[in-house]
Amino acid sequence: MMASPAAALAGRLLRDLALRPRFLAPGSQAVQCTSRRWLNLQEYQSKKLMSDNGVRVQRFFVASTANEALEAAKRLNAKEIVLKAQILAGGRGKGVFNSGLKGGVHLTKDPKVVGQLAKQMIGYNLATKQTPKEGVKVNKVMIAEALDISRETYLAILMDRAYNGPVLVGSPQGGVDIEEVAASNPELIFKEPIDIFEGIKDSQAQRMAENLGFLGPLKNQAADQIKKLYNLFLKIDATQVEVNPFGETPEGQVVCFDAKINFDDNAEFRQKEIFAMDDKSENEPIENEAARYDLKYIGLDGNIACFVNGAGLAMATCDIIFLNGGKPANFLDLGGGVKESQVYQAFKLLTSDPKVEAILVNIFGGIVNCAIIANGITKACRELELKVPLVVRLEGTNVQEAQNILNNSGLPITSAVDLEDAAKKAVASVGKK
Ligand code: GDP
Ligand code: MN
Repeated sequence: MMASPAAALAGRLLRDLALRPRFLAPGSQAVQCTSRRWLNLQEYQSKKLMSDNGVRVQRFFVASTANEALEAAKRLNAKEIVLKAQILAGGRGKGVFNSGLKGGVHLTKDPKVVGQLAKQMIGYNLATKQTPKEGVKVNKVMIAEALDISRETYLAILMDRAYNGPVLVGSPQGGVDIEEVAASNPELIFKEPIDIFEGIKDSQAQRMAENLGFLGPLKNQAADQIKKLYNLFLKIDATQVEVNPFGETPEGQVVCFDAKINFDDNAEFRQKEIFAMDDKSENEPIENEAARYDLKYIGLDGNIACFVNGAGLAMATCDIIFLNGGKPANFLDLGGGVKESQVYQAFKLLTSDPKVEAILVNIFGGIVNCAIIANGITKACRELELKVPLVVRLEGTNVQEAQNILNNSGLPITSAVDLEDAAKKAVASVGKK
């Protein structure tokens, strides 16, 4: 049986899947699609949160020009310096810049070299295993005090549906090739589910520290860091905190050498400071634009634009378009409380995609008032001089008034009685071209 198209879409809509460390479910379609609509912080921002909460990270500065990087390297006054390109994707160590420079992470003892390397990083694209082929533009670099690493382990804390709550995930073999460890030696991946009401127990932190291979006094230190990371995870409403490498130094310190934190966007109202740190510059422009109007946009590769409310309805719409022989070009999810201006913006975004040959509106008016949608649609059609066929299926609150608005508009809008009808009409309108 063919995999349901909705299942594929679900992977992009449900962030808990998209944000799971990739290696946990190799080959799963959902996990390969990283959604970039959600708040993502750069390493330096995550490390600031960590150090503010008692987690051990290296001293560092951030720079946006090569000169700033050079100055920062001097100011750091460290025996050795590590220079790191700041992009949201991992695998930087083994990445390549379109300036020709190899490696997004460099160690040197000479501040001057930091300046030279930064010049080949800032403003260039860094391509890694986790970025698109052309890479991602580097706007900032981190200049940190390098420490010797005697052992690299892997530690993550994530919200996991399979455990209905947080789980610690760790491996004594961390570092850059954790995906391969997961594939070839799954027995080296340890999990420790945590009861969110009871919190992390000492015994659990100790067990993980031991599984990670921390010995002697390092075991207590690692357990202490794990507990602090867990408490941070809760405090900031994270869905994932990933530290790779979670390393030890020859001097006997446990240090978080790298950091990747993802957040629960539903917690934005109580995490205002953190959400204000989002620079959004790495998101796709159309997604940014959508976020600005509180709309969620997901690009797909067909030709029927879908304007829906709610992730469930989006998936159903996707399925029924496929079942009727069509392919969705994208989705715009309107969410709950809708304003007329949002509908206008939504249409503007949907039609800015040159792939779009028809628009299917499928709105269920529960919280949404259908008349508001209808007014928004007619206004958008007029002002944007819509050139593609538009099929509208509205149902629910105030639907009669909405129908009247659409019918009396004099615009070439095709009404549909239900989802099936809407999909058929949308697919037919594309086929006719
Ligand atoms: P990633 O490749 O994007 O995951 O970037 P990381 O921050 O994890 O750095 C990649 C690798 O560089 C790490 O796995 C370490 O082996 C190495 N590295 C990073 N920081 C330091 C450091 O301070 N000292 C040493 N010796 N190696 C480091
Ligand atoms: Mn790393």
